[in-house]
Amino acid sequence: MGRRFQHDILIIGSGAAGLSLALRLAPRTRIALIAKGPLTEGATLYAQGGISVVLDERDSIASHIEDTLIAGAGLCDREVVEHCVRHARNCIQWLIDQGVPFTRAGSRNGHADYHLTREGGHSHRRIIHAADATGRAVEKTLEQQAREHPNIEIFEHHLAIDLITSDKQERGGARCLGAYILDIREQQIHVFCARQTALATGGTGKVYLYTSNPDVATGDGIAMAWRAGCRVANMEFIQFHPTCLYHPQAKSFLITEAVRGEGGRLLLPDGSRFMQRFDPRGELAPRDIVARTIDHEMKRLGAECIYLDISHQPAAFIKAHFPTVYARCLEYGFDMTREPLPVVPAAHYLCGGVITNINGKTDIENLYAIGEMSYTGLHGANRMASNSLLECLVFAEAASHEMAQSLERISLAEKVPSWDESQVTDSDEEVVVSHNWDELRHFMWDYVGIVRSEKRLQHALRRCQLLSQEIEDYYGNFRVTSDLIELRNLVLIAKLIIHCAMTRRESRGLHYTLDYPEPDNSRPPAITVLDPTLHRATGDS
Ligand SMILES: Cc1cc2nc3c(=O)[nH]c(=O)nc-3n(C[C@H](O)[C@H](O)[C@H](O)COP(=O)(O)OP(=O)(O)OC[C@H]3O[C@@H](n4cnc5c(N)ncnc54)[C@H](O)[C@@H]3O)c2cc1C
Repeated sequence: MGRRFQHDILIIGSGAAGLSLALRLAPRTRIALIAKGPLTEGATLYAQGGISVVLDERDSIASHIEDTLIAGAGLCDREVVEHCVRHARNCIQWLIDQGVPFTRAGSRNGHADYHLTREGGHSHRRIIHAADATGRAVEKTLEQQAREHPNIEIFEHHLAIDLITSDKQERGGARCLGAYILDIREQQIHVFCARQTALATGGTGKVYLYTSNPDVATGDGIAMAWRAGCRVANMEFIQFHPTCLYHPQAKSFLITEAVRGEGGRLLLPDGSRFMQRFDPRGELAPRDIVARTIDHEMKRLGAECIYLDISHQPAAFIKAHFPTVYARCLEYGFDMTREPLPVVPAAHYLCGGVITNINGKTDIENLYAIGEMSYTGLHGANRMASNSLLECLVFAEAASHEMAQSLERISLAEKVPSWDESQVTDSDEEVVVSHNWDELRHFMWDYVGIVRSEKRLQHALRRCQLLSQEIEDYYGNFRVTSDLIELRNLVLIAKLIIHCAMTRRESRGLHYTLDYPEPDNSRPPAITVLDPTLHRATGDS
């Protein structure tokens, strides 16, 4: 029998977004912090590059804003971009105050001077980093603070299944009362009641066959919010990283773009270079063009992967510049100082998500969404490198202010029903779940991946509808498992991506379709919004 927990605030997700929100609120409130695996497991832990912030005297806030707007291809919300860029410095200072060991360049007048790198799309050096493992430094530092805080109660290996909402009130909409959460180890479903709930569950990469994302990235928060009645936007804009290591055990190991920046060459299986045939910038073309070109060549040749070769550079140079990548590749049997690395493009980052205001508030009362799962308006049609961790930090700060201010006015709900398992039994066919996982990720890769078309999207949608029916039947009859919950969420995420992609009849930013290969400049660009109340009416949730 599941238990009942009561906290002021429930935070689901413990990456950069969830941890910083928890730490900012903890001095005044009691918090339950939920993670479906170990506390640190999430995209944040694997972020290599860094966080964008204007610190160099030659750089400017105006330039960071301008670069972000250009990358977003006409779909950024300028107010949100300005807000994020202006708050970046304070948020980085907050991380430094927590103890994050950013790489230093030296010190001036007794003050630390941090080393800044430059990445694609940025016109200045403005990426603060901790060697080539920034996310790990952030995650580990915040983890330690959270574990030591008396007001933060941590629940690891707890998977949120669904939000609990009140019926719509006479005036205004539904209120969020908490969530049903599966304790994975004890196989019990608990009720977590809270005055406010924040979702910070990260991205959706696992909907694709190849992804740089960790296994936890199954879009749970977006699916829960959608089922509860929140609108989502811009789900068609998925950033594909051009080069993930192709190896059965290295499911999501990313080979940083800096390898191409330092002279790495992309090769077909016959050893020939190909990028110059598609773009004069060759291997240094923007990330989306490189990913699309690799996808094109792999599909044309029926190749399983292509190769990234930097072995012409001196071994000492490679080891000094890419210590993490070199060591990890060696673990998988590839010595990048001597041979080309097999690589494939991989789903990397979702620009869209649950619609929020500038303080992270969603369409539902007392419910917030922050981090990669949210759509705030910062990224538009394409995310500029290193703006995503920044978004986690800035929106955690903004949400913490609004949540702290409104908390006093909200009371805990009294009548929250327990999870009902009276009608279900244990499953005897787990193979159905694993088979459907594989099928979904394959057809999403083939039909809704880097290059799309109306026909491919239709194919994928039809398969999604079939899978949905099967999974809902299964869900209604059998006791839930984590695999089943994640699969149910992924199929919903797939449908949201497909619906958004079908709505956008143009190619823009990260969305490329063969049927409309150019941007539609005949009208002002608009974001794609899906509303669950309208989709439910057509039976398509
Ligand atoms: C390989 C890689 C490199 C990257 N490099 C950079 C970079 O250099 N700079 C940059 O700005 N961005 C980078 N990004 C993107 C950035 O890391 C992510 O956008 C960001 O870390 C997302 O943080 P988050 O807090 O939203 O989610 P995450 O860090 O992914 O955390 C998600 C959390 O939600 C929890 N969760 C999920 N579902 C549930 C559920 N149902 N119940 C309970 N808990 C749940 C997970 O357990 C986890 O704790 C990179 C991403 C990857 C994958």
